[in-house]
Amino acid sequence: MSSPSNIIRAKLDDVPILASAELAFVGIGSNLATDQDEPIVLLQRAFAALALLSDYPILVSSLWESMPLDCPAGSPRFVNAVAALRPRHNDPRQLLSSLQKIEDDFGRRRGAVRNAPRTLDLDILSFGAALMHEAALTLPHPRMHERAFVLKPLLEIAPNYRVPGMKRPASALLREIVGQGTLTPINLPKSL
Ligand code: ADP
Ligand code: MG
Repeated sequence: MSSPSNIIRAKLDDVPILASAELAFVGIGSNLATDQDEPIVLLQRAFAALALLSDYPILVSSLWESMPLDCPAGSPRFVNAVAALRPRHNDPRQLLSSLQKIEDDFGRRRGAVRNAPRTLDLDILSFGAALMHEAALTLPHPRMHERAFVLKPLLEIAPNYRVPGMKRPASALLREIVGQGTLTPINLPKSL
């Protein structure tokens, strides 16, 4: 699967037309295959789906393999990534509902078991500088600052990123995280 032109691997600073204040950062994870696709392929298909929600090409991180955190025993490892998009609509609730629709389209089942293996999880990490405290949507995402599998890919896109409302840069927050196991970049086969 080659990268279409509406998906770019670049740092935010190298794309001067994009200002971080107008971007939504989305955390992407998968640790369950569908009948058709492994998580690595699901993430790349998710990039394509996210690009449709953006009025400018999306910036994407590498794919990373992470250890399950707060998941049921025996859960498979995750494939994680982050994407930055410029939402077509200036409404975070509308973006969340579009993300949930994509999750559903990718076979996501919402069962009773918390953090059960999932084909696709799309979380809004931040939406510009917005601060929201609703159960259905908390911004920034309440756990993003303590998760290496979020901060590491996010910093690939935006090395100077600051979590809205937090004083210290995300790079400093990442340095303090310990004990989350290995986080390994995935080398994609040329055929994908
Ligand atoms: P998790 O992402 O925590 O593993 P889910 O994907 O099942 O779990 O999401 C649980 C709920 O979290 C969703 O119903 C959603 O309304 C809520 N939620 C609150 N804030 C956010 C956010 N920033 N991004 C995505 N979902 C959020
Ligand atoms: Mg989620």
